[in-house]
Amino acid sequence: MYNDDLKNESLIVEFESFEKILEGTISVNNWERIEVHSEKANILSPIKVSFSLEKGDNQVLVNGKVETMLQLHCSRCLKPIEYWVEESFEALYLDSSFEKYLSKTEHLKSLDNVVYYDGQSIDLTNRIIETIILSVPNVPLCKEDCNGLCPICGADLNENSDHSCEKEELDPRFASLKSLLDEGKFL
Ligand SMILES: [Zn+2]
Ligand SMILES: [Zn+2]
Repeated sequence: MYNDDLKNESLIVEFESFEKILEGTISVNNWERIEVHSEKANILSPIKVSFSLEKGDNQVLVNGKVETMLQLHCSRCLKPIEYWVEESFEALYLDSSFEKYLSKTEHLKSLDNVVYYDGQSIDLTNRIIETIILSVPNVPLCKEDCNGLCPICGADLNENSDHSCEKEELDPRFASLKSLLDEGKFL
């Protein structure tokens, strides 16, 4: 998937680097585009990630917030729109050795917020990507009542509301065929 390319060293936190609690802000400015729903959105401002990590035995609880500006496109008229993302996230990172102790139901119930890690660091990258995707509407609109485009000529119906395209003239060569069809001769 496209978003697999999104990486940033500063989103990987080494356990050694803090005692019990770590709070901070990371600015991710090397991501240019992110795939959200049906489009690859331009990222217009550095992604600001504020977070607090709380370390326990073989686990780290993460609370955070993601802020950035995306460029989306209106689903009806296709005009570019700026969309401000400001969304919280929460995750419990568990040592992957725990995974086998959890029963299947526990595992499924907690799937949303639990992430398993191997080794001595956690990577916040996927949580940031998910948080951005979840905050973006499935059907972005430039305004609630956007009129969209004329399906025949593509004119923007917001700009001329009384626009109406004439029905396409039927090619005369097909007119006689059409009349036969209309009479039901081929049915
Ligand atoms: Zn629109
Ligand atoms: Zn038209």
